[in-house]
Amino acid sequence: MAILITGGAGYIGSHTVTYFQQQEKEVVVVDNLQTGHRKSVEADHFYPLDIRDQEALDQVFKNHKIQSVIHFAASSLVGESMEKPYEYYHNNVYGMLCLLEVMKNNGVKNLVFSSTAAVYGEPENIPIQETDKTDPTNTYGETKLAMEKMMKWFDQAYGITYVSLRYFNAAGAHEKGHIGEAHDPETHLIPLVLQVPRKKRQQLFIFGDDYPTMDGTCVRDYIHVMDLASAHYLAQQYLVAGNRSDVFNLGNGNGYSVKEVVAAARNITGHNIPAEIKERRPGDPATLIASSEKATKILGWSPRYPTLEKIIEDAWRWHCREE
Ligand code: UDP
Repeated sequence: MAILITGGAGYIGSHTVTYFQQQEKEVVVVDNLQTGHRKSVEADHFYPLDIRDQEALDQVFKNHKIQSVIHFAASSLVGESMEKPYEYYHNNVYGMLCLLEVMKNNGVKNLVFSSTAAVYGEPENIPIQETDKTDPTNTYGETKLAMEKMMKWFDQAYGITYVSLRYFNAAGAHEKGHIGEAHDPETHLIPLVLQVPRKKRQQLFIFGDDYPTMDGTCVRDYIHVMDLASAHYLAQQYLVAGNRSDVFNLGNGNGYSVKEVVAAARNITGHNIPAEIKERRPGDPATLIASSEKATKILGWSPRYPTLEKIIEDAWRWHCREE
C-alpha cells in the first residue's frame, strides 16, 4: 500500500518523501507547485494538482491503494498570512476540508498532519507542553489550529485517526546535499545567515538584542529536518498499529540564541558574516523551546541530529550546491 504525501515538493515534505522511500515505502506525491519545487521530488508517482480540486484528488485515491496520508500542503509564512487571511484560510482550512472529505469517501483512515508551534502563541511555560493553552498570535497559526480541530471532529464522526506534529524551528537539509530549504522570499534565520557567505546578501540583521535571554537575542528550538521526517514515519506507524489520535511537539529541547546561530555559521563557513542589530520584529516571543517528552515516550522518537553545528553544516552543504 502507498503513502500519499501532500505538499511533498516543499521543504519538509521533500525530506519526508526521501525518508519514507529509504524505509522502502511506495510514495505518491501531490503538490500544486505554488511554493514547492518539482526537482525536489524523485517519487514514482507525482501529481501536480491542488488538493482543493476534489475531483482530481479523488482520482489519485482511485489510482492507488492509499494506506495513510501525510499532509504538508499549506501556506506557511507568518508575515504573509497577516496580509492575506483569505488566501490562508482558503488554502489551509478549505484545503484540509477537501482532503478530509476525499479521505472519508475513499475509506482512508490515517492522517499525519504538519502542524506548528505557532498554535501556542505567546508561551505560558518553557519548555512548552502539548497541554499548554493554544492562542495563536497570527493567521498562519490560527489556520493550523483550525485544521487540527477539523481532524478531531472528522475522527469522531468517521474514525479518521490523526497525529498532529507541532514543529518548532525546522532547519538543516538532507546529508547528501541534494535537497534543502529554498523559500522565496526567504524569512528564516539559518538560510538567511548562510546567504551572506554565498554572496546573496551583504549582511544579516539581528532583530533585537534587548530580550530577557542570556545574550539579549531570541532563543529558538532548531530541529533538523530529517529528524522531523523520521517523526512522520513513526507517527504513521503509530496510526497503522491502531492507536488513537494525538498531538505531539517536535523540538530538540535545546534553545539557541540568534547570536549563537551566527557564531556557529561563522565557524562552519569560515566567513565573518557581518551582523547588525535592528529593531525587534513584531510578534517574536523571547524564547520558544519545546518539550518533546511525549513524542519520545509514545512514538519512540528522539532527534538523531540535535546539535546546531550538524544542522548548520548540512544546510551549508546544500547552500554550496545551489546556484
Ligand atoms: N531573525 C533575525 N534576523 C533575520 C531573521 C530572523 O534576527 O533576518 C530572528 C527572529 O527574530 C527570531 C529567530 O531569528 O527570533 C528565528 O526566526 P525565524 O524566522 O527563522 O523563525 P520563527 O521563530 O520566527 O518561526
